[in-house]
Amino acid sequence: AKYVYDFAEGNKDLKDLLGGKGANLAEMTNLGLPVPAGFTITTDACQRFLAEGSHVDGLDDEIDRHLRDLESAMGRQLGDAADPLLVSVRSGAKFSMPGMMETVLNVGLNDESVAGLSRQAGGNDRFAWDSYRRLIQMFGKTVCDVPGEEFEDALHKAKEAKGVRDDVQLDADDLKSLVAAYKKVFVKHVGHDFPQDPRQQLDLAIEAVFRSWNADRAVLYRRQERIPADLGTAVNVVAMVFGNLGPDSGTGVAFTRDPATGESGIYGDYLQNAQGEDVVAGIRNTLPLADLEKIDKKSYDELLRIMATLEGHYHDLCDIEFTIERGKLWMLQTRVGKRTAAAAFTIAAQLVEEGMIDLDEAVTRVSGGQLAQLMFPRFDLAGDPAALTRGVGASPGAAYGKVVFTSAQAVAAAAAGEQVILVRRETNPDDLPGMIAAQGILTSRGGKTSHAAVVARGMGKTCVCGADQVEVGRDQFTVHGEVVHEGDVISIDGTTGRVYRGEVPVRPSEVVQYFEGDLDPGLANEPLVAAVHQIMTHADERARLRVRTNADTGPDAARARRFGAHGIGLCRTEHMFLGDRRELVERLILAHNKAERDDALAALRPLQRDDFLEIFREMNGLPVTVRLIDPPLHEFLPSLEELAVQVAVAKERGSSGEQAERDERMLAAVRRMHESNPMLGLRGVRLGLVIPGLFAMQVRAIAEAAVALAAEGGRPRPEIMVPLVGAVQELETVRTEAEKIIAEVVGDSGVEVLIGTMIEVPRAALTAGQIAEAAEFFSFGTNDLTQMAWGFSRDDVEGAFFWRYLELGIFGISPFESLDRDGVGRLVRIATEEGRATRPGLKLGVCGEHGGDPESVHFFHEVGLDYVSCSPFRVPIARLEAGRAAV
Ligand code: PEP
Ligand code: MG
Repeated sequence: AKYVYDFAEGNKDLKDLLGGKGANLAEMTNLGLPVPAGFTITTDACQRFLAEGSHVDGLDDEIDRHLRDLESAMGRQLGDAADPLLVSVRSGAKFSMPGMMETVLNVGLNDESVAGLSRQAGGNDRFAWDSYRRLIQMFGKTVCDVPGEEFEDALHKAKEAKGVRDDVQLDADDLKSLVAAYKKVFVKHVGHDFPQDPRQQLDLAIEAVFRSWNADRAVLYRRQERIPADLGTAVNVVAMVFGNLGPDSGTGVAFTRDPATGESGIYGDYLQNAQGEDVVAGIRNTLPLADLEKIDKKSYDELLRIMATLEGHYHDLCDIEFTIERGKLWMLQTRVGKRTAAAAFTIAAQLVEEGMIDLDEAVTRVSGGQLAQLMFPRFDLAGDPAALTRGVGASPGAAYGKVVFTSAQAVAAAAAGEQVILVRRETNPDDLPGMIAAQGILTSRGGKTSHAAVVARGMGKTCVCGADQVEVGRDQFTVHGEVVHEGDVISIDGTTGRVYRGEVPVRPSEVVQYFEGDLDPGLANEPLVAAVHQIMTHADERARLRVRTNADTGPDAARARRFGAHGIGLCRTEHMFLGDRRELVERLILAHNKAERDDALAALRPLQRDDFLEIFREMNGLPVTVRLIDPPLHEFLPSLEELAVQVAVAKERGSSGEQAERDERMLAAVRRMHESNPMLGLRGVRLGLVIPGLFAMQVRAIAEAAVALAAEGGRPRPEIMVPLVGAVQELETVRTEAEKIIAEVVGDSGVEVLIGTMIEVPRAALTAGQIAEAAEFFSFGTNDLTQMAWGFSRDDVEGAFFWRYLELGIFGISPFESLDRDGVGRLVRIATEEGRATRPGLKLGVCGEHGGDPESVHFFHEVGLDYVSCSPFRVPIARLEAGRAAV
């Protein structure tokens, strides 16, 4: 295998192998842009290294060869005493994981080459010794696990001894002493001296970067972002360039468009006389990129030219890291930039407008997850609440919660069900658990490219950063003397950057208003709304999967239709048996004889008919799948424990009379119906077979409602669905009875009623060929199918032990959330193929929760289903994903 690629050998399509950073460095090198020389060690090598625990055969020789090429390109040798080449060793996985893995800078410095570096920098001893102490610190921490505080302490002592506050006030001699102190720290913890051999430094740094793939925070980030655990990271070895060589040097980040809104312009941050890590760490407040024009016009102009080249080349928003070393511009990284959900839509539409991409491509540039974010509510500022302060709107959204100051507090509060806002001076990768747990993040330092901003945008979490009037303390923060305590509620607006005290009310987002069809006319031409409209329209045109909704009330059906649903895929009739109707259901269950039971059913029928009529009206002309009652009947009865206590107490008191008698009868019924595994018990089609008249009543009500709508001139398209079928005989029994009733009710009204079944028991999937004989359609109930295929109780397992499964990587995401393609998906495939083999026109859909999950929608498209059905608010998301699956 080939483990090492020179930058000139790679290209942007090799991300699997070279990681995002390596692939794009290669691409820029080949575009002739000013990239420092370097090479990339592949993710393959990392996977090998992690699997074998150490040495990878052949890797050393390859590194040797590429290092020699690098040395000859730069005209210097690694760590050479007189004129050293220094390199950075940087992580870079296929998917960007900002700040989660390790980087070591200044590799190649030692007691001798430090003098050579000083000479290169024009006799700048201070710079050379500062670089050396940074190497020992970074190397000690990342390669040898020396606790970082030890170095911090030594630095602190050096400043104290000198009586200064800032690092920059330490001179060359101070830093030289500090290097000696750092070396002592190193030897104390590691047991040997800081390695002087440059090549050994390099090898150890590379291995440390490999290992950092499995650092705790990297593992957590991958789980959060659903990045597979086995990809490994590439390692980039790059000739060092320095942004901290004086005022004519500096470092920055730039975006070719605004990553928050998508508007074209000059966006980014610049820090004079600094190294790249200083910008991303958010440690110093940066200058707007536009200010670079005044500082160094030549570099600025060159940067703008390069940005235009990159956009033209990638046909997308790019973000860039660059360094200026004594007036010479170097590109350290570029990638297709992370962006907010709103920017993703507007940028895609702009690129279409500019002729850079076509509409098919535009549809792939956005995702259902992003659309979901745009559907979150916004702050309602009608009362014009006064803002406490304002920072940079780094990641949009409207979030409120109690103020906490540490990651651990945020995690604890969220576990206790509280909403919190994590307030930090700046965040670092160790804050990740708290950032995940919080509703939003507020920092007092750092710009749009600080750690907090980048990570929050990536996660779609609301974030305001760089609110520099905020003084963050231990258990309170102040703004101009006004104190906000831990536990006080604040609201943060990630779009405007405004921070409010208390809970600001919210209103529907513009995008939801657009879907609802009641958009404020002033907003109709807003770029975002226009972009969503254009992209959704195209997605609908391309989609092959239809999208239906799961709804069981008229208003839900109406909303889903406005959101673009093509009918109802699941109307759960049990939801109609709650509230004041519970009593009728009780009567049905407690009935002593046929007459009592018929009475109860007769009372329920008109109510059901009206429910159905309302829904059929809202979905006039579109199919409505009504599922016959599914859950175990005891769900409608009081709990066994409570009732037993009640009856015992009543007996004790000697109460008698009608109520006491009823309670006793009820208790007997509850006892009789008690099941150890109700999910595997008397529910679904089994109820219909056991309780005479129950399904018949529902079928009659459905047919009557359909006839009533037809009589009004409407066009009902009812589909009756039988739940929990495992054998064709079950379905045939129900079907025979239902057909008789339908024929009787429908007469010559012209109403057509389809009869089909859910496929949600594994046996049904495996005998789908037989079941299709009796079914005009199948709808996959992937909730139960997942439950029964894995044997996981859908109501219990997620909190109980899934964390361990996720930790072990048995699955990357709960199979109840995203369809398990290999297992449950296989059942879906089998049933699809065998069902259609029996009945070529068989209509196939899915109505489990997976119908609204983007990943799963792509799977259902591939398998060839006709539709997915999901909750009303997921309908637009499923429409978009259905379009994306088809382009
Ligand atoms: C299913 O099992 O996937 C389904 C849609 O039915 P329910 O969730 O009501 O059991
Ligand atoms: Mg089910």
